[in-house]
Amino acid sequence: LPILELRGLEKQYLGTHALKPADLAFKAGEIHAIVGENGAGKSTLIKLLTGVIPRTAGEILLRGEPVALTTPLEAIQHGINAVHQEVVLCPHLTVAANIFLGEEHRRFGLLQHRHMVREAQKILDDLGFVLPAHVLLSDLTIGQQQLIATARAATRGARFLIFDEPTAYLTREEAAQLFALIRRLQKSGVTIVYISHRMEEVFELADRVSILRDGRLVGTRNIDDTNENE
Ligand code: ADP
Ligand code: ADP
Repeated sequence: LPILELRGLEKQYLGTHALKPADLAFKAGEIHAIVGENGAGKSTLIKLLTGVIPRTAGEILLRGEPVALTTPLEAIQHGINAVHQEVVLCPHLTVAANIFLGEEHRRFGLLQHRHMVREAQKILDDLGFVLPAHVLLSDLTIGQQQLIATARAATRGARFLIFDEPTAYLTREEAAQLFALIRRLQKSGVTIVYISHRMEEVFELADRVSILRDGRLVGTRNIDDTNENE
Protein backbone atom coordinates (compact mmCIF):
# COMPACT_ATOMS: atom_id res chain seq x y z
CA LEU A 1 0.00 0.00 0.00
CA PRO A 2 1.49 3.39 -0.99
CA ILE A 3 1.86 5.79 1.94
CA LEU A 4 0.69 8.74 -0.14
CA GLU A 5 -1.32 8.53 -3.33
CA LEU A 6 -2.77 10.94 -5.86
CA ARG A 7 -5.82 9.78 -7.83
CA GLY A 8 -6.95 11.96 -10.69
CA LEU A 9 -5.64 14.99 -8.82
CA GLU A 10 -6.32 18.09 -10.88
CA LYS A 11 -5.99 21.87 -10.62
CA GLN A 12 -7.39 24.51 -12.92
CA TYR A 13 -6.82 28.19 -12.30
CA LEU A 14 -8.86 30.68 -14.31
CA GLY A 15 -7.66 30.02 -17.82
CA THR A 16 -4.81 27.62 -16.90
CA HIS A 17 -4.96 23.87 -16.53
CA ALA A 18 -1.94 23.79 -14.20
CA LEU A 19 -2.26 20.11 -13.17
CA LYS A 20 -4.03 17.68 -15.48
CA PRO A 21 -5.57 14.61 -13.79
CA ALA A 22 -2.58 12.96 -12.12
CA ASP A 23 -2.13 9.49 -10.60
CA LEU A 24 0.98 8.94 -8.52
CA ALA A 25 1.92 6.64 -5.63
CA PHE A 26 4.69 7.45 -3.15
CA LYS A 27 6.32 4.53 -1.32
CA ALA A 28 7.00 4.85 2.41
CA GLY A 29 10.56 6.00 3.05
CA GLU A 30 11.51 6.74 -0.55
CA ILE A 31 13.10 9.89 -1.92
CA HIS A 32 10.87 10.71 -4.87
CA ALA A 33 12.00 13.53 -7.13
CA ILE A 34 9.65 15.54 -9.32
CA VAL A 35 11.21 17.45 -12.18
CA GLY A 36 9.80 19.81 -14.78
CA GLU A 37 10.45 23.08 -16.55
CA ASN A 38 9.15 26.42 -15.27
CA GLY A 39 5.37 26.40 -15.54
CA ALA A 40 5.14 22.58 -15.54
CA GLY A 41 2.96 22.60 -12.40
CA LYS A 42 5.47 21.79 -9.63
CA SER A 43 4.43 24.65 -7.31
CA THR A 44 0.79 23.82 -7.90
CA LEU A 45 1.37 20.20 -6.87
CA ILE A 46 3.18 21.29 -3.69
CA LYS A 47 0.41 23.72 -2.79
CA LEU A 48 -2.19 20.98 -3.23
CA LEU A 49 -0.21 18.59 -1.00
CA THR A 50 0.32 21.21 1.74
CA GLY A 51 -3.27 22.43 1.92
CA VAL A 52 -2.45 25.88 0.52
CA ILE A 53 -4.88 25.80 -2.44
CA PRO A 54 -8.02 23.74 -3.11
CA ARG A 55 -7.99 21.07 -5.82
CA THR A 56 -10.37 21.17 -8.76
CA ALA A 57 -10.90 17.39 -8.74
CA GLY A 58 -9.41 14.10 -7.60
CA GLU A 59 -8.26 12.52 -4.37
CA ILE A 60 -5.24 12.56 -2.07
CA LEU A 61 -4.93 9.41 0.06
CA LEU A 62 -2.74 8.81 3.11
CA ARG A 63 -2.28 5.09 3.78
CA GLY A 64 -5.33 4.44 1.63
CA GLU A 65 -7.57 6.98 3.38
CA PRO A 66 -8.77 10.06 1.48
CA VAL A 67 -7.80 13.35 3.17
CA ALA A 68 -9.30 16.79 2.54
CA LEU A 69 -6.16 18.94 3.06
CA THR A 70 -8.19 22.15 3.02
CA THR A 71 -5.77 24.08 5.28
CA PRO A 72 -2.00 24.12 5.87
CA LEU A 73 -2.71 23.19 9.51
CA GLU A 74 -4.49 20.02 8.41
CA ALA A 75 -1.52 19.06 6.24
CA ILE A 76 0.84 19.57 9.21
CA GLN A 77 -1.43 17.50 11.45
CA HIS A 78 -1.12 14.69 8.89
CA GLY A 79 2.68 15.02 9.14
CA ILE A 80 3.10 16.79 5.79
CA ASN A 81 5.71 19.57 5.95
CA ALA A 82 7.41 21.62 3.25
CA VAL A 83 10.83 23.25 2.96
CA HIS A 84 10.81 26.00 0.36
CA GLN A 85 13.36 27.59 -1.91
CA GLU A 86 13.24 30.76 0.16
CA VAL A 87 13.63 30.26 3.89
CA VAL A 88 10.29 31.14 5.53
CA LEU A 89 11.34 31.55 9.16
CA CYS A 90 11.78 34.62 11.40
CA PRO A 91 15.21 36.25 10.93
CA HIS A 92 14.70 38.46 14.02
CA LEU A 93 14.37 35.49 16.37
CA THR A 94 17.02 33.11 17.62
CA VAL A 95 17.70 29.77 15.97
CA ALA A 96 16.10 28.07 18.99
CA ALA A 97 12.95 30.20 18.80
CA ASN A 98 12.65 29.38 15.11
CA ILE A 99 12.93 25.65 15.74
CA PHE A 100 10.12 25.80 18.30
CA LEU A 101 8.14 28.64 16.70
CA GLY A 102 4.45 28.33 17.55
CA GLU A 103 5.09 25.70 20.20
CA GLU A 104 7.19 27.67 22.67
CA HIS A 105 4.36 28.48 25.10
CA ARG A 106 2.96 24.98 25.11
CA ARG A 107 6.36 23.36 25.52
CA PHE A 108 8.30 25.79 27.66
CA GLY A 109 5.99 28.37 29.23
CA LEU A 110 6.88 32.05 29.32
CA LEU A 111 10.40 33.23 30.21
CA GLN A 112 11.91 29.84 29.45
CA HIS A 113 14.05 30.90 26.54
CA ARG A 114 17.21 29.49 28.12
CA HIS A 115 15.56 26.09 28.47
CA MET A 116 14.39 26.29 24.86
CA VAL A 117 17.93 27.12 23.70
CA ARG A 118 19.26 24.06 25.54
CA GLU A 119 16.67 21.79 23.91
CA ALA A 120 17.30 23.28 20.47
CA GLN A 121 21.06 22.85 20.92
CA LYS A 122 20.54 19.17 21.71
CA ILE A 123 18.56 18.75 18.50
CA LEU A 124 21.25 20.49 16.44
CA ASP A 125 24.03 18.44 18.07
CA ASP A 126 22.10 15.21 17.47
CA LEU A 127 21.74 16.12 13.81
CA GLY A 128 25.49 16.67 13.66
CA PHE A 129 25.27 20.40 12.91
CA VAL A 130 27.98 22.64 14.29
CA LEU A 131 25.56 25.54 14.75
CA PRO A 132 24.74 27.63 17.84
CA ALA A 133 21.08 27.71 18.93
CA HIS A 134 21.30 31.05 20.78
CA VAL A 135 22.23 33.34 17.85
CA LEU A 136 19.78 35.20 15.63
CA LEU A 137 18.65 33.23 12.61
CA SER A 138 19.82 36.13 10.42
CA ASP A 139 23.39 35.55 11.65
CA LEU A 140 23.44 32.25 9.72
CA THR A 141 24.08 31.81 6.01
CA ILE A 142 21.09 30.97 3.82
CA GLY A 143 22.33 27.40 3.62
CA GLN A 144 22.54 27.11 7.39
CA GLN A 145 19.04 28.61 7.65
CA GLN A 146 17.80 25.95 5.21
CA LEU A 147 19.24 23.28 7.53
CA ILE A 148 17.37 24.90 10.45
CA ALA A 149 14.14 24.91 8.43
CA THR A 150 14.60 21.20 7.77
CA ALA A 151 15.49 20.47 11.40
CA ARG A 152 12.36 22.35 12.43
CA ALA A 153 10.15 20.22 10.19
CA ALA A 154 11.88 17.05 11.40
CA THR A 155 11.33 17.90 15.07
CA ARG A 156 7.61 18.33 14.55
CA GLY A 157 7.27 14.70 13.63
CA ALA A 158 7.06 15.23 9.89
CA ARG A 159 6.28 11.94 8.12
CA PHE A 160 6.43 13.59 4.70
CA LEU A 161 8.86 16.30 3.78
CA ILE A 162 8.41 18.18 0.54
CA PHE A 163 11.45 20.10 -0.67
CA ASP A 164 10.90 22.79 -3.28
CA GLU A 165 14.24 23.54 -4.96
CA PRO A 166 15.92 23.84 -1.55
CA THR A 167 19.42 24.26 -2.95
CA ALA A 168 18.58 27.28 -5.14
CA TYR A 169 20.61 29.66 -2.94
CA LEU A 170 23.03 27.18 -1.35
CA THR A 171 26.74 26.64 -1.91
CA ARG A 172 27.89 23.15 -2.89
CA GLU A 173 29.08 22.48 0.65
CA GLU A 174 25.78 23.61 2.15
CA ALA A 175 23.89 21.48 -0.36
CA ALA A 176 26.02 18.47 0.64
CA GLN A 177 25.09 19.04 4.30
CA LEU A 178 21.42 19.31 3.37
CA PHE A 179 21.60 16.07 1.37
CA ALA A 180 23.20 14.29 4.32
CA LEU A 181 20.34 15.47 6.51
CA ILE A 182 17.74 14.38 3.94
CA ARG A 183 19.28 10.89 3.79
CA ARG A 184 19.29 10.74 7.54
CA LEU A 185 15.60 11.64 7.67
CA GLN A 186 14.91 9.00 5.04
CA LYS A 187 16.64 6.38 7.23
CA SER A 188 14.39 7.38 10.11
CA GLY A 189 11.34 6.59 7.95
CA VAL A 190 10.38 9.99 6.53
CA THR A 191 9.06 9.95 2.95
CA ILE A 192 10.72 12.67 0.88
CA VAL A 193 9.32 14.50 -2.14
CA TYR A 194 12.11 16.46 -3.78
CA ILE A 195 11.23 19.07 -6.41
CA SER A 196 14.09 20.18 -8.61
CA HIS A 197 15.12 20.97 -12.14
CA ARG A 198 18.76 20.07 -11.50
CA MET A 199 19.06 16.55 -12.90
CA GLU A 200 22.47 15.94 -11.32
CA GLU A 201 20.92 16.45 -7.88
CA VAL A 202 18.07 14.13 -8.70
CA PHE A 203 20.47 11.36 -9.79
CA GLU A 204 22.56 11.86 -6.66
CA LEU A 205 19.72 11.89 -4.16
CA ALA A 206 16.53 10.25 -5.38
CA ASP A 207 15.28 6.65 -5.54
CA ARG A 208 12.65 7.48 -8.17
CA VAL A 209 11.84 10.43 -10.38
CA SER A 210 8.58 11.60 -11.93
CA ILE A 211 8.47 14.02 -14.84
CA LEU A 212 5.92 16.85 -15.07
CA ARG A 213 5.46 18.47 -18.47
CA ASP A 214 2.84 21.14 -19.18
CA GLY A 215 0.78 20.07 -16.19
CA ARG A 216 0.86 16.39 -17.11
CA LEU A 217 2.70 13.65 -15.20
CA VAL A 218 4.38 11.87 -18.08
CA GLY A 219 6.13 9.05 -16.22
CA THR A 220 8.06 7.68 -13.26
CA ARG A 221 11.44 5.93 -13.36
CA ASN A 222 13.63 4.17 -10.83
CA ILE A 223 17.07 5.66 -10.41
CA ASP A 224 19.61 2.87 -10.40
CA ASP A 225 22.54 3.26 -8.00
CA THR A 226 24.94 1.36 -10.24
CA ASN A 227 27.11 3.60 -12.33
CA GLU A 228 28.06 2.30 -15.76
CA ASN A 229 31.51 3.85 -15.49
CA GLU A 230 32.42 2.01 -12.31
P1 ADP B 1 6.14 25.42 -11.75
O1 ADP B 1 6.20 25.45 -10.27
O2 ADP B 1 6.48 24.08 -12.34
O3 ADP B 1 6.92 26.53 -12.38
P2 ADP B 1 3.40 26.35 -11.45
O4 ADP B 1 2.64 25.32 -10.70
O5 ADP B 1 3.87 27.57 -10.73
O6 ADP B 1 4.60 25.63 -12.22
O7 ADP B 1 2.53 26.85 -12.68
C1 ADP B 1 1.85 25.96 -13.56
C2 ADP B 1 0.98 26.79 -14.49
O8 ADP B 1 -0.08 27.37 -13.74
C3 ADP B 1 1.73 27.92 -15.16
O9 ADP B 1 1.17 28.07 -16.45
C4 ADP B 1 1.40 29.11 -14.27
O10 ADP B 1 1.46 30.32 -15.00
C5 ADP B 1 -0.02 28.80 -13.84
N1 ADP B 1 -0.37 29.35 -12.53
C6 ADP B 1 0.28 29.12 -11.36
N2 ADP B 1 -0.32 29.75 -10.33
C7 ADP B 1 -1.39 30.38 -10.87
C8 ADP B 1 -2.43 31.21 -10.35
N3 ADP B 1 -2.49 31.50 -9.03
N4 ADP B 1 -3.36 31.70 -11.19
C9 ADP B 1 -3.31 31.40 -12.50
N5 ADP B 1 -2.37 30.64 -13.10
C10 ADP B 1 -1.41 30.14 -12.29
P1 ADP C 1 8.84 28.26 -9.15
O1 ADP C 1 10.10 29.01 -8.82
O2 ADP C 1 8.40 27.31 -8.07
O3 ADP C 1 8.85 27.64 -10.52
P2 ADP C 1 7.09 30.22 -10.33
O4 ADP C 1 8.10 31.23 -10.73
O5 ADP C 1 6.46 29.34 -11.33
O6 ADP C 1 7.68 29.36 -9.12
O7 ADP C 1 5.91 30.95 -9.56
C1 ADP C 1 6.15 31.71 -8.42
C2 ADP C 1 4.80 31.94 -7.74
O8 ADP C 1 3.89 32.65 -8.59
C3 ADP C 1 4.11 30.62 -7.41
O9 ADP C 1 3.52 30.75 -6.15
C4 ADP C 1 3.05 30.46 -8.50
O10 ADP C 1 1.92 29.73 -8.07
C5 ADP C 1 2.70 31.90 -8.79
N1 ADP C 1 2.31 32.03 -10.20
C6 ADP C 1 2.93 31.48 -11.25
N2 ADP C 1 2.31 31.79 -12.40
C7 ADP C 1 1.24 32.57 -12.05
C8 ADP C 1 0.20 33.21 -12.78
N3 ADP C 1 0.09 33.11 -14.10
N4 ADP C 1 -0.69 33.93 -12.08
C9 ADP C 1 -0.62 34.01 -10.75
N5 ADP C 1 0.34 33.44 -10.00
C10 ADP C 1 1.25 32.72 -10.63
